[in-house]
Amino acid sequence: MNDRPDETIKVAIESKVLRGKRAFVLGIANEHSIAYGCAKVFRQLGAELAVTYLNEKPRPYVEPLARELGATIFAPCDVGKSGELEAVFQQVRETWGSLDIALHSIAFAPKEDLQGRLVDSFGEGFKLAMDISCHSFVRMARLAEPLMPHGGTLLAMSYHGASKVVPNYNLMGPVKAALESVVRYLAYELGEKHIRVHAVSPGPLKTRAASGLKDFDVLLTEALERAPIGELVDIDDVGLTAAYLTTPFARRLTGTVTYVDGGLSIMA
Ligand code: NAD
Repeated sequence: MNDRPDETIKVAIESKVLRGKRAFVLGIANEHSIAYGCAKVFRQLGAELAVTYLNEKPRPYVEPLARELGATIFAPCDVGKSGELEAVFQQVRETWGSLDIALHSIAFAPKEDLQGRLVDSFGEGFKLAMDISCHSFVRMARLAEPLMPHGGTLLAMSYHGASKVVPNYNLMGPVKAALESVVRYLAYELGEKHIRVHAVSPGPLKTRAASGLKDFDVLLTEALERAPIGELVDIDDVGLTAAYLTTPFARRLTGTVTYVDGGLSIMA
């Protein structure tokens, strides 16, 4: 990368376009998480943050990041545990009274279902993947809606495997397809309240979740070889695009799936 794009980004960051905004961020596991990239940019642009961690196991990795981000709220949240998402939203309500941005950057499927063929996946595994990776976004939207009386933005992380077959993405393909459909229906239902809903679809990134996919390195190599921009994306790239979607610059956009993949998805 030459210096010019970095300089442009610095100027954009200095605009502090999210000053006074409050953002809920679900999905930081460590410093490689896409959610961390998004939280960093939200913060750099002036937003206040609520950051969650799954449970006590990843907490030691997430806590220093939340501290570095100056998060106002830091709370546990396993969306599969009844009441935890509700509890953290209650904390948001008590602390802030309102919310402007809610980011859902989580996915889960049992390893045996994720690494096997879709045709062999078990109902229980499929249901769990759908609940954690997709329906929890609906629940998050339901909890965010009353906290966004003047509008806001809901964001979810998708992947190209939602619309095209990506070998080894297996059951996550249909799950992400459902997530993208959920984004469109929520955009329709919440549009009149000026709550805008988007999916962001990053190219492959080396994260903890990605390490659960078989032959993930092949996806990275292919992305590098085939993406028109000729570089892999990083979590800051995803954060910048996610942040853009929350700003007034995108005020008439809703229901989109925005790719951050260096153009990889346009290739045959
Ligand atoms: P990551 O492992 O850093 O993040 C996944 C997060 O999901 C973790 O923070 C984990 O704690 C959380 N999670 C799992 N089960 C949960 C539950 N029951 N309750 C609450 N949180 C739970 O990996 P990542 O790559 O940053 O993944 C974030 C999102 O980005 C996912 O939706 C993933 O599908 C999507 N995505 C990733 C890539 C990639 O190549 N890494 C590409 C496109 C989309």
